[in-house]
Amino acid sequence: MSILFGTAGTSQSFAEQGYKNSVQVPEYTAKMGLDAFEYQCGRGVRIKEELASKIRAQAAVHGIYFSLHAPYYISMSSLEEEKRLNSVDYILQSAAAIRALGGQRVIFHSGSCGKQSREAALEKALDTMHRIVAAVDEAGFSDIVLCPETMGKVGQLGTLDEVLALCGVDKRITPCIDFGHLNARDQGSIKTKADYAAILDRMGEVLGDERASKFHVHFSKIEYTTGGEKQHLTFADTVYGPDFEPLLELCYERGLSPVIICESAGTQAEDAATMKRYYQSLGKCRPGPLKRARKGLKNSRFWGRIITDMSVNARAASLPLNSSSQAAALAAQGRFGRARINFNWRIIYDFCRRFSQWRNF
Ligand SMILES: [Zn+2]
Repeated sequence: MSILFGTAGTSQSFAEQGYKNSVQVPEYTAKMGLDAFEYQCGRGVRIKEELASKIRAQAAVHGIYFSLHAPYYISMSSLEEEKRLNSVDYILQSAAAIRALGGQRVIFHSGSCGKQSREAALEKALDTMHRIVAAVDEAGFSDIVLCPETMGKVGQLGTLDEVLALCGVDKRITPCIDFGHLNARDQGSIKTKADYAAILDRMGEVLGDERASKFHVHFSKIEYTTGGEKQHLTFADTVYGPDFEPLLELCYERGLSPVIICESAGTQAEDAATMKRYYQSLGKCRPGPLKRARKGLKNSRFWGRIITDMSVNARAASLPLNSSSQAAALAAQGRFGRARINFNWRIIYDFCRRFSQWRNF
């Protein structure tokens, strides 16, 4: 149960600190206190085998998790058949490159709607996705994780539901949720914790497996117009959003383990480090709520009912629970009736502590 924090490409501070080439990226990333790096192949996959293996060795030394952003010109929904089918090759090139870099995840944009309806565009993209999965398997890349991304412009394919539909093609396909993009395309729709929760709930509903807890994230604040995304900003922005705090709080409370890649404009390493520090601060529990939770457990009929419900339903379980934070999250959603609790007093105590934090008990 942990989150990896990293960057898309390098911050301005990479060059400012005297770093010069991509073999030094893992060292720099670790020095910035981060865990992950997304290698950018937006303009084409050009990395040579030799360079990739040098980076891979450095990534192993510094413990940096690599993912790769596939070319922007991928168009899985294109009306031009040749262009659409070329997407398969670009993904294969990306798969070979990320394997050489020692990673698994390939992140890509699925395309735009153009002159066709959203439904027609999605249908084409789904067909291309099937072809991609077959080609990836045939080429021996079946361990590579394909991640279609939610997109920021209204005309692009890539609403949450469109991305989840693409994930339905194969169990290995994992969503890349770009929250800045979703916020931009829907004119600032992500403001509260409940807005984030709705996205995570939807993902859990559709995927219903570990892809919904080990998803990929792109995060940045993004300026938008009526057409959606205009440009990436930094965490200094206070106008467009979205704010990262509610997302990290939900990840903590629900025990989610996404890879979070920061895409701020030029300060991505610094902003990713800010996110990581905030996430780590959530684990530090104050004694106040603890005492109140214990008192609440003794005195409140509400707590008594939750505990009873959980034990009554423990046998009729359909959902294994391994941790108290998952239990707390499920209880908060009113789903504890389906939860299996490995009962002991330590877990109940810990459960109350986390649930009380969640509710600001
Ligand atoms: Zn992207």
